[in-house]
Amino acid sequence: MTVSIRASLLLSALAMATLTAAFVDPPADSHAEPAPDHPAASHPAHWTYGGEGGPEHWGELSPDNAACAAGRQQSPIDLSGAMTAGIPAPATHWIPTHGAMVVNNGHTIQVDVPEGGAVTLDGKEYTLKQFHFHHPSEHTIEGKQFPLEAHFVHASPDGDLAVIGVMFLEGSANPNLDSIWATAPGREGKAAVAFNIDAAAFMPASGATFRYEGSLTTPPCSETVHWVVMATPVTASPSQLAAFGALFPHNARPVQPLNRRYVLKTAD
Ligand SMILES: [Zn+2]
Repeated sequence: MTVSIRASLLLSALAMATLTAAFVDPPADSHAEPAPDHPAASHPAHWTYGGEGGPEHWGELSPDNAACAAGRQQSPIDLSGAMTAGIPAPATHWIPTHGAMVVNNGHTIQVDVPEGGAVTLDGKEYTLKQFHFHHPSEHTIEGKQFPLEAHFVHASPDGDLAVIGVMFLEGSANPNLDSIWATAPGREGKAAVAFNIDAAAFMPASGATFRYEGSLTTPPCSETVHWVVMATPVTASPSQLAAFGALFPHNARPVQPLNRRYVLKTAD
């Protein structure tokens, strides 16, 4: 029981699930307003990416956010100095979904997938719950920041999280982004239904990955995430990057200290 509550708390913090749930019925009504009986969901300690609510203040905004300031396994990080290890690529078995909810939660555009499949990591299965985007990337690779990063958030029944990060370079247009961008609400608190969302189409051809133990990159910064970051970027067109940047000019937490952690990478 405790474990499942913990799982749902984590997910709600990450996914702003209350907001999402408020929009499930009716799903296609882009004029619905946030549920008035959930003020905490509308203003969870008012964190932002700059100014008084910015990342350096997240730990002070609420006691729930203590890990943001005091945690020693925070995310994102710069993925450098990785040790090569015989770890397998993540075995994703994602499935295309019809009727995914595309939500503007004020911090990002998030796609909630009702039946999105799963990933198997170290013999344990994690179900895909949602994916969302950061502009520019949160993780860096050998100090290099990318214009966009997608996070595919998975949860296990006992409350562990596994998040797969995919970097985007400027290049060819990504057809999958078009359908999401076309649906993405321009204003916070809005949601719309998108069809034919295929998360698997975002995965690079190469299974090369970085792995490390970290946290949510948004408050409450819980240190419960098994991170998998794909080493090979995919592409998005300049106009696709600009379209997201127009909604969210900067929604990336700065990189955090590695401290006493190791970054592993798959053998080349
Ligand atoms: Zn994220």
